[in-house]
Amino acid sequence: MKVKSKSKKINKAWLNDHIHDPYVRLAQKEGYRSRAAYKIKEIDEQLQLIKPGQLVVDLGAAPGAWSQYVRRKFAPKDAGTGGAAVGELNGTIIALDLLDFEPIEGVQFIQGDFREESVLNQLTELVGDRPVDVVISDMAPNLSGIDVSDSARVEHLIELAIDFAQNHMKPDGALVCKVFHGSGYSQLVEMFRQAFRVVKPIKPKASRDKSAETFLVGIGLKNR
Ligand code: SAM
Repeated sequence: MKVKSKSKKINKAWLNDHIHDPYVRLAQKEGYRSRAAYKIKEIDEQLQLIKPGQLVVDLGAAPGAWSQYVRRKFAPKDAGTGGAAVGELNGTIIALDLLDFEPIEGVQFIQGDFREESVLNQLTELVGDRPVDVVISDMAPNLSGIDVSDSARVEHLIELAIDFAQNHMKPDGALVCKVFHGSGYSQLVEMFRQAFRVVKPIKPKASRDKSAETFLVGIGLKNR
């Protein structure tokens, strides 16, 4: 019984935060599928990573707010307002997720687990010979609460994302990955430092203070 009332309390607190969250309201107003849009927006505005004409791969893309943001950046300035733009598209977006994804005009989608070779092969096939400009990953494993296994799962996803970037990204491209503060964080920073010339940790304002979530951005591949 005690456990039930504690989880009820947590749900109530979450609901309360959600209702009063300015980013939730803004996302509703601006037509984004989730408040996550403002995390990539802030990272992009700080580092100027996403530009028209690029090839962007969005890993862990569902429900689609990051892809909507990129889709809008690839549209002409006068393409109207409200989430993803429609019509003229200057650039390529490939999105991937375990879950289904409501289509976004012009965004190519692969449903599957990024850790599976067959899914990675589908992505590689879709990318073809084109060098990727930016890889953005908001993927997060289902956390068990057991620190050691959770950090191993996060590390595995990051390792695969770095590997993908090393195999497909332009030498001066960028990889944005969601990571978590806590055990294993310094190893992730080290993995980024070994792979990229510049590594920037960013905690966007849209990422809740109480969340351990943060982002690592690697710019420019080493040894290229
Ligand atoms: N950036 C997204 C947006 O703007 O709508 C939100 C992403 S959500 C926080 C994390 C996503 O990562 C989930 O949809 C989940 O299904 C996906 N994910 C987690 N592990 C994955 C994996 N191994 N392969 C593919 N997707 C994965």
